[in-house]
Parts: sequence; C-alpha cells; structure tokens
Amino acid sequence: MKIHEYQAKELFARYKIPVPSGRVACTAEQARAIACELGRPVAVKAQVHVGGRGKAGGIRLATTAEEAQTAAQAILGMNLKGLTVQRVLVEEACDIAQEYYVGITVDRSARQDVAMVSSVGGVDIEEVSAQTPQKIAKLHLDPLYGLLDFQARLLVGQAGLPGSVGQQAVAILKQLYKLRRDCDASLAEINPLVLTPEGRLVAADAKINVDDNALFRQEELAALREEQEEDPIEAEAHRRGITYVRLLGGDVGVIGNGAGLVMTTLDVVQREGGRPANFLDIGGGAKAELVANALEIVLMDPGVKGVLFNIFGGITRCDEVAHGIRQATSGMSIRVPIVIRLTGTREQEGRKLLEGSALISAESMDSAAREIVKLVRQGHVAPAAVTAERGATASGHSG
Ligand code: GDP
Ligand code: MN
Repeated sequence: MKIHEYQAKELFARYKIPVPSGRVACTAEQARAIACELGRPVAVKAQVHVGGRGKAGGIRLATTAEEAQTAAQAILGMNLKGLTVQRVLVEEACDIAQEYYVGITVDRSARQDVAMVSSVGGVDIEEVSAQTPQKIAKLHLDPLYGLLDFQARLLVGQAGLPGSVGQQAVAILKQLYKLRRDCDASLAEINPLVLTPEGRLVAADAKINVDDNALFRQEELAALREEQEEDPIEAEAHRRGITYVRLLGGDVGVIGNGAGLVMTTLDVVQREGGRPANFLDIGGGAKAELVANALEIVLMDPGVKGVLFNIFGGITRCDEVAHGIRQATSGMSIRVPIVIRLTGTREQEGRKLLEGSALISAESMDSAAREIVKLVRQGHVAPAAVTAERGATASGHSG
C-alpha cells in the first residue's frame, strides 16, 4: 500500500528526519492560506500515488501566496497518469545545491533488504541503476542486526558524500531504517535528499510503501488506505474478498486454486508466448459463487482477450468449479474464449458439466496454456465458433 508524500513526511518528522515545513490543502484558498502562514516561497505538490510528478507538471514553485493559490488551482483536478489530484502539499521551497538519493527496500533476487545511497538524486533511480550502477552505493542488510553504524558510514562514504553532509546522511539513513522496520514498509525512500546552500540536508520528497500483509498490525497506516487511489478492479476484488493482482498490459486472464499453482500458470502462459493479465487465487474448497465472482473480476479488465482456469482438485472439487463457471457464464455474455484445465477430485464430473457449452476443456496445464494463447492470438470473439472448431478434441478429452 502506498501512502502520500505529506503522510510520509509526517512520519519522517516523528523520526527526526528533516523535512520542509508545510501542510496539505484541498482547495486553492487553503493553499494560499498555508503559503501566507509560511511567509516564504513555497513548492505546491500534487499528492497522488504516482512517481515522476515533477516531470508530469504536478509540482510548481511559487514566491507569493497569490502564486501559490494559482499553482494549486492549476494542479488540483489535474489528471496525473490516470489519477485525479484532490490534494496538494504546500511547503517551504528549498534551495538546492545538490540532490542525493537514500532508500531502503527489498532486493528480491538477493532475498535480502538493501540500503542504497547515491550522490545522483532527483532523477529516476531505476534509470541510474540500469545505466550507471556504480553511482549507487548498495549494501545488503541482515534483519537480525539491522543497519549498523559502521555500515551506514560505509555506504555514505562510498556514495562520496563529504564531511558534515555525510554525518547528517548517516543519521538520516539510520532513522529511515528504524522507520521502515517500525512501519513494516517494503520501501522507504528519499529522492531527492536535498543539500541546501547552507549545508543542511532536507528530505524534499518522501516515499513509503507499506507491506499489505502487515496492515493488520499497522492500524494507523491501514487507516490511510484510499480505494480510489487503487486500481479499481483490485479494489472491487478486495471488496469481494478475492485475492487478485492486476498485471498491466496482459491479455490472458488467469484463475487457479492455490498461489503456487497460479504463479506457475502465469509462467507457463508467458512461456507459451502469452501475456498474463492477472494473478487470481480462488483458494481451497472454492464454491460456485466464488468462481463466478472471480470470473467477473477477471473480465472487468478490458485488455483480457481470453481466460485460463487451472484447477487442481483436492479439497476443491472440480465439479463445484465447473458448476460455478457454467453458472457465471450463463448469466453473463462472455466476449472471450475460456479454456479450463480440471484435474483431481471429481474431474470427470467436472468435465461433463462443461460439455455442450462454449467452454473449452484441456487435460494438462501446458496444453491449456498453449490453447488459450493460440485463441487469444487468433482474436476469437465468438465462443460459439470456438466450440464448433474444438468440439471433437474437447469431447475426446472429457472422460
Ligand atoms: P517526483 O517527481 O514525484 O519524484 O517529486 P519530487 O518531490 O521528487 O520533485 C521532483 C523535482 O522537483 C525535484 O527533484 C526537484 O528538482 C524539484 N523540486 C521539488 N521540490 C522543490 C523545492 O522545494 N524547491 C526546488 N527548487 N525544487 C524542488
Ligand atoms: Mn521524487
């Protein structure tokens, strides 16, 4: 879960990480009042859960309260990468001598936490990492030890931050590590960490992502969740109690039972040349209604051109799932081909239930993936045509 910059900066302040003074505003008048109160040039910054707001026009500097009001007027209601700006942060503008980067996150391939410091901040850090990785000092961390003093000094030294600036950076990095651990954050990042002409470090931006699986013990942070800022399909799935993750740019909807099976299915679809559109795990013992719900959710994504069910019957009964799929598809007008692989408990009963419908039955995971990828490529829109063409094979497989 993402939180806004202004919320992250409130946390920073609690952890004694220096931030510019400022407050959030919902109207241009409020923005003016805050700028007036601050009595200094301000930065007016869109508060939406996207990166690169600066480049997208979501950040403006203003020298007077009137200018701040005009800036807020322009930014509020703006569409930034699909999200409407409803709030702006109005804060003291900082003078920038240098922009640095400090971040702590999870390095998935190393299966460890990683702390990073760079003297090249204020720009897209992924780009720096790809083009000039030597410009980012990185250190993997052992969660049992945390971030030790000497490690923080080492990192800051490697990044080339000089003297007293380095000392401030060490203190900030240590506090950021504490904050990240206390908040169960998967990411805590300051980009840019600004060096002012007076030689002070200030967090000009703040990014914190909280691990969704820790929200049960992060009451204060959980209360910051904003549905409208989430993917609308993910939000709907959440409401229906379905474990669904959207994968942007995909065309094959995937539904399976068990997280491992679903992830494998995503890999197999990819291997067959398809692009999975989502992760959806209907869990164990899935009943018809849940299956119908799952299918509805997957089809809400307009990019989905075909759906693959991969069901391993154990506690989950294949006939229950087949019943659910039929129930769901009889009530909806299905615009895409659906391939179903059923195996395990009551698979024959399950396949029988699919006969005489437009639903395509497959025996193995590989053949199911190959089939759906082929159908999506061919751009099948009429399931009836699919049945006719596939009729012989489908019935041949059932039984
Ligand atoms: P992001 O684009 O969403 O990452 O938003 P940031 O808060 O990181 O701002 C992007 C860039 O805008 C920074 O790297 C700065 O160059 C500039 N910027 C942001 N706040 C200020 C400020 O208070 N003063 C000045 N001079 N520039 C700022
Ligand atoms: Mn930034």
